[in-house]
Amino acid sequence: MNPAVPPVRGAAGAGEGGRRDGERFALASRRVVTPDGAAPGAVIVDGERIAAVVAPQDVPAGVPVEDLGDWVIFPGLIDAHVHINEPGRTEWEGFATATQAAAAGGVTTLVDMPLNSSPVTTTLAALQAKQAAATGQLSVDVGFYAGLVPGRFDQLEPLLDAGVCGVKAFLCDSGLEEFPAATEQELRAALPLLAERGVPLLAHAEIVPHGAATEPIRTAADWLAARPVQFERAAVALLDRLQQEFAVPVHVVHLAASELLPVFEAAKRQGRTLTVETCPHYLFFAAEEMADADPRFKCAPPIRTAADRDRLWEGVLGGVIDTIGSDHSPCPPAMKHLETADWQRAWGGVMGLELTLPVVWTAGEPRGLTLTRLAELVAQRPAELTGLAHRKGRLAPGCDADLCIWDPAAQWTVDAAQLHHRHRLSPYDGHALRGRVLRTYVRGNVALGGGQFSESPTGQTLTRSP
Ligand SMILES: [Zn+2]
Repeated sequence: MNPAVPPVRGAAGAGEGGRRDGERFALASRRVVTPDGAAPGAVIVDGERIAAVVAPQDVPAGVPVEDLGDWVIFPGLIDAHVHINEPGRTEWEGFATATQAAAAGGVTTLVDMPLNSSPVTTTLAALQAKQAAATGQLSVDVGFYAGLVPGRFDQLEPLLDAGVCGVKAFLCDSGLEEFPAATEQELRAALPLLAERGVPLLAHAEIVPHGAATEPIRTAADWLAARPVQFERAAVALLDRLQQEFAVPVHVVHLAASELLPVFEAAKRQGRTLTVETCPHYLFFAAEEMADADPRFKCAPPIRTAADRDRLWEGVLGGVIDTIGSDHSPCPPAMKHLETADWQRAWGGVMGLELTLPVVWTAGEPRGLTLTRLAELVAQRPAELTGLAHRKGRLAPGCDADLCIWDPAAQWTVDAAQLHHRHRLSPYDGHALRGRVLRTYVRGNVALGGGQFSESPTGQTLTRSP
């Protein structure tokens, strides 16, 4: 039995039941998820921080306790893969809408990719423009990546000094002229600097050979055939080699080809820092189950087969896959060319920033995914990757009070019109999911509660811990 929706503590601009600065309060539940497991407990919040995680009966007298019953108290999600297109392409997605969607999905920190804003984040000036554009608009905390592109190598050191969470490179065409692919030569120039700083390279791992087929792409099957596994294999082989040579953290983003998992497994066995992300859409959808005429599903690498999905799940459950990020990559609906089902011209990217938790839980729980493993994948490991683990990603004393309160048993159906990112389009539209986010705290403040966003967003921009 769930309790009735309780009054919300920590509501911004709070009247009755709200938190005043410095007030301590506790949230109790039968399932508090810490790195030690899911167990009955209480999280004591003091201002912006977690003061302690204790047994329910050990909350000190005088600290008001709200009992959340069976609702899960979970670390706020760290989505280390989000494309916010502000400034310059705010009509695709902006900080206000993206971070509200994040709060709606229990995501308390997101890390913004260096494309597809304009300018792209490949110079210090562009990073500063991003940070300025974000100010005052954030419902959750936001960190930033820098981009590595040919001819901008001189900007890398200033960007690292400014506290970017990582450096992103494409090994193939990014879809944006101003963000060209990095060649092995550029990677070799950059990696010693990243190794010295301990900052990860994040790589879009596909190498598309010159003269690759350019036949019209009209269906999901055509798109799958146009981006075969060997593109991912060639890129991962190069990254694996460079990671060994430079002893640098390398994170392969959005792996779709499950046959490459042994490469990452071997690296882990050898204690090397070659890590890997996959995305909710690769764990939920399968090519043979998709409508051919629906470019909402277009992304790169493509959503592969049900057999791939099964093996990716083995990688998730077996500890080979390190992180799950949404790769929310939005665009205006017209750019998806839905009327003509033109997969060739459609912008590549899946929209679903706020759905990571229920999508992964819906597909994963029947396969044996535990709450504790899920917290590693969507909070703890992404915080470690992005240099935020000293204050984010875990329910532990001293960490920011970033909390996601959710009901893993709640069943609901996605209505894209009710989502919060800028354009209410998503391939998850109409899908039945299990697990619903009920309340999101960002540094002790309620960013979302009772179906309402805070009227005074308190998100901040973040920098990587040196
Ligand atoms: Zn991406």
